[in-house]
Amino acid sequence: MRRILITGGAGFIGSHLAEAILAVGDAVVAVDDLSTGSFRNVSHLTGERFELVVASVDDAATMEGLVRAADLIYHLAAAVGVKLIVSDPVRTIETNIRGTEVVLRLANKWRRPVVVASTSEVYGKSERVPYAEEHDMVLGPTSHSRWAYAASKAIDEFLAVAYYRRDGLPVVIARLFNTVGPRQTGRYGMVLPTFVRQALAGEPITVYGDGHQSRAFTYVSDAVAALLELPRHEAAFGEVFNVGGGREITIMELARLVRERTASESEIVMVPYDEAYAPGFEDMVRRVPDISKLQRVTGYAPSVSLEETIDRVAEHYRQHPGFV
Ligand code: UDP
Repeated sequence: MRRILITGGAGFIGSHLAEAILAVGDAVVAVDDLSTGSFRNVSHLTGERFELVVASVDDAATMEGLVRAADLIYHLAAAVGVKLIVSDPVRTIETNIRGTEVVLRLANKWRRPVVVASTSEVYGKSERVPYAEEHDMVLGPTSHSRWAYAASKAIDEFLAVAYYRRDGLPVVIARLFNTVGPRQTGRYGMVLPTFVRQALAGEPITVYGDGHQSRAFTYVSDAVAALLELPRHEAAFGEVFNVGGGREITIMELARLVRERTASESEIVMVPYDEAYAPGFEDMVRRVPDISKLQRVTGYAPSVSLEETIDRVAEHYRQHPGFV
């Protein structure tokens, strides 16, 4: 039995990853400060092989013991959600940079393999789609808080690669693309849980901007499968991988599809970006991953369709009335 440490283990992706690890008989220690993660995400996992430590990842004293006792670390703890990032850039930058510094320094000290979760946000507003790992990052000015997220995660990636190159730390970087599924909250702005909740409540579905912007959504169990697979491959260490792969869809089409799948009569309304986020907010027009590198190294293939994803998210809302 291996002991796997998941930072951000009470978050949406962390809790699904914990479930998958427990299912194969390994043990999980989740560390989470419960700022955006929540006990309700992991309450069903409590048992002999699962432990939740409520602490911040930048608490080096606590983290040292946890890292030392782990066979493998998934570093998922981060400030998350465009709304939160725009409203609290100090917290975003400090959480993302300090936490990763602590995790990587300790992993290096105790020679523990690490998977660092990054984000498709690092491609910024590049229009060169599909995005491949070696493409340039195209970020806006520092006066626009949104880019603080991409820049802070890019620093995390630089640091991880630097540890690999200098000290041979076995580290893999996963750039997650719009991961969605049950237990994701809409509270920090994520579109799919927001649309599904609105559709089920008969409230207006809020499409920001003109709705022509597109994304490719990844069902959480597909993302988790990639996270489990990556550190099994020697060739993955020191490398960055896009993790995603659903079909591209515009946000307006997504709103219509959600309305159709939930048999909702909600109207679809358009909300200007300035009103939705902050004046001067810049959105990505298209965000689509090239996952050939991930496929080549791990044999990965996403398996859950967007329709099935919407149905499962809707089912979660039906089973947990009041979940936001
Ligand atoms: N969005 C929207 N309505 C909402 C929330 C988000 O139209 O209620 C849009 C958002 O502006 C973006 C897309 O949906 O174009 C995806 O947003 P999300 O925050 O889920 O992820 P992002 O790809 O921006 O990180």
